Amino acid sequence: MSETETRDFIRQIIHDDLESGKHQQIVTRFPPEPNGYLHIGHVMSICLNFGVAVETGGRTYLRFDDTNPGKESEEFVAAIERDVRWLGFDWADRLTHASDYFERLYEAAVALVEMGSAYVDSLSAEEIREYRGTLTEPGKNSPHRDRSVEENLKLLAAMRNGEFADGEHLLRARIDMSSPNMNLRDPALYRIRHVTHQHTGDSWCIYPMYDFAHTLSDAFEEITHSLCTLEFEDHRPLYDWFLDRLQPAHRPRQIEFSRLNLAYAITSKRKLNALVEEGIVEGWNDPRMPTIAGMRRRGYPSAALREFVERGGVTKKDKLIEMGVLENCVRENLADDSERRMGVLRPLKVVLTNYPEGKIEMMEAMNHPGRPELGTREMPFSRELWIEQDDFMEDAPRKFFRLKPGGEVRLRFGYIIRCDEVTKNEAGEVVELRCSYDPDTRSGTGTSDRKVKGTIHWVSCAHAMDASVRLYDRLFTEPNPNSADDFHAVLNSGSLQTVDAKLEPALAKLDSGVAVQFERLGYFCTDSEEHADDAPVFNRIVTLRDSWAKLEKQAMQQQG
Ligand code: ATP
Ligand code: MG
Repeated sequence: MSETETRDFIRQIIHDDLESGKHQQIVTRFPPEPNGYLHIGHVMSICLNFGVAVETGGRTYLRFDDTNPGKESEEFVAAIERDVRWLGFDWADRLTHASDYFERLYEAAVALVEMGSAYVDSLSAEEIREYRGTLTEPGKNSPHRDRSVEENLKLLAAMRNGEFADGEHLLRARIDMSSPNMNLRDPALYRIRHVTHQHTGDSWCIYPMYDFAHTLSDAFEEITHSLCTLEFEDHRPLYDWFLDRLQPAHRPRQIEFSRLNLAYAITSKRKLNALVEEGIVEGWNDPRMPTIAGMRRRGYPSAALREFVERGGVTKKDKLIEMGVLENCVRENLADDSERRMGVLRPLKVVLTNYPEGKIEMMEAMNHPGRPELGTREMPFSRELWIEQDDFMEDAPRKFFRLKPGGEVRLRFGYIIRCDEVTKNEAGEVVELRCSYDPDTRSGTGTSDRKVKGTIHWVSCAHAMDASVRLYDRLFTEPNPNSADDFHAVLNSGSLQTVDAKLEPALAKLDSGVAVQFERLGYFCTDSEEHADDAPVFNRIVTLRDSWAKLEKQAMQQQG
């Protein structure tokens, strides 16, 4: 693998900066606002910021951008730390908060006032909006814009002292109300908010605005490459304005990249929060959520997430990545290490009429077809078995090689059976199959070499473990729910299906966090949350194949 071939444009810049000696060591940061859980888009930013530092022997800060109290909480702070760690990254002693710098930020604001570059405005929020102008019309100056430095200093100190109510005054940068870049039309630097802050408590009643705090925090931490998403490109002139005036000892270089968007998923914290608050999902860690916590609970390995964002790359182009790409990364990660087990999701009873009552045989089942070193386990076999409803068809087409009246099928690691009789209930539904087994066809040791086309999975009724199995599907029916007017209208009502399944007894010993493949069905793990019901709960991590790709292809063919 050639190194340059895999280097994205950001890694190229970093590589050049190291080679030219501009920097001896790379310093990056991942700066989440603790106002929600991290999602798949953040995974990209985490892997990029921590990744480039790991690759070049640099360092990375985990910095909470906590300038907006009220929406932020300790719960989110703790969740973010847990998620970054689970992804495999370590910030060592570099856990910081924008709020750690509140005193220095205030000093910087005072400095701007002293040089005539900031002023206290006393217009109402509505007036400020009016004065700002529009994209096509310049704004106009506030009548307070020419307050003296002395008056501004006095007002700012009084703001800090809590002498005013929320919204009464605002500290603004004095830039240009007619700039075509709206971010330069005297943006707010500090606002009054009498709110307790989750990190600084009641020490402050004025809080710096994001752009101001973010730029200077990056400078204070001597971030060499300040990596952010494209929507901040228009903010860069403002950042430069701050840095030009305040001349901090270190000046970070900002580089923008495009957001990662995942098809059929939402990556806006505000909307994810709405899903949680409205009870549409079980919580931030609902296994259908594109949050790190949700994907972890679902059973996605962290390596699969890292690989997924790596495949997506780092570019400046907009991208909407197929869910199938993520699911493929998950499958590929699980295939080698997940042991095979049997589980019947929609059970149909089979009675082997010629098998002795009370007899139990222990069948030897391979734990992994491609890895004999993973050994075998024993599966009890008896007269009454569960098979999958789907594996029987009464009026089967000729090519149906599973069970049908008069037809034969092999029970995996068991015998060949024939369906002799179908029992139905009053509603005409099939409730039981009466079958006979061929004693000479025992898997591995049977004397007969008879072959049949189909093989199906099964579980012994007397030994089966009852479990509630959750089958997840995507949360939305629209590839781009982010752009829907109302995401409620494009919710997938079938995103969670719960079935009462019958599982082979070995699954009772499955450790939490360990994935297995239910043969023919997909990858599963136990759910990590506590549940009120007695039966254990399993999550389907991913199916064995991408069923949506097939559906989408069919739809395309019909259209074309
Ligand atoms: P939201 O607007 O939904 O609140 P955010 O981007 O403001 O999300 P932050 O907590 O500020 O959330 O994000 C922390 C970092 O993660 C930022 O540097 C941001 O650029 C990056 N990030 C957020 N979403 C994505 C995404 N979809 N793809 C790549 N990076 C992202
Ligand atoms: Mg943000």
